Amino acid sequence: MCDACRAKGENYIFRNRDSSLYSNKLYQVYREGVAKVVLCKIHDIELFRSGEFRFLEKNLDLASTIASSNRHFSYG
Ligand SMILES: [Zn+2]
Repeated sequence: MCDACRAKGENYIFRNRDSSLYSNKLYQVYREGVAKVVLCKIHDIELFRSGEFRFLEKNLDLASTIASSNRHFSYG
């Protein structure tokens, strides 16, 4: 399940027509450590095109989800 779609309550398979998922790392969410997220194709492209900061601005639900549950996302 795409973390950004889940945060928004969207059905990512319906949006994407396939269930391919891409692992990404976010470097600006935590002061220390890296947040690991899994994104669908649409959100993966959005992150690539807009950059991490603007991607999180557009996906505030995801940003707050990551910020409030760092145990799930953070590693290293
Ligand atoms: Zn998604």
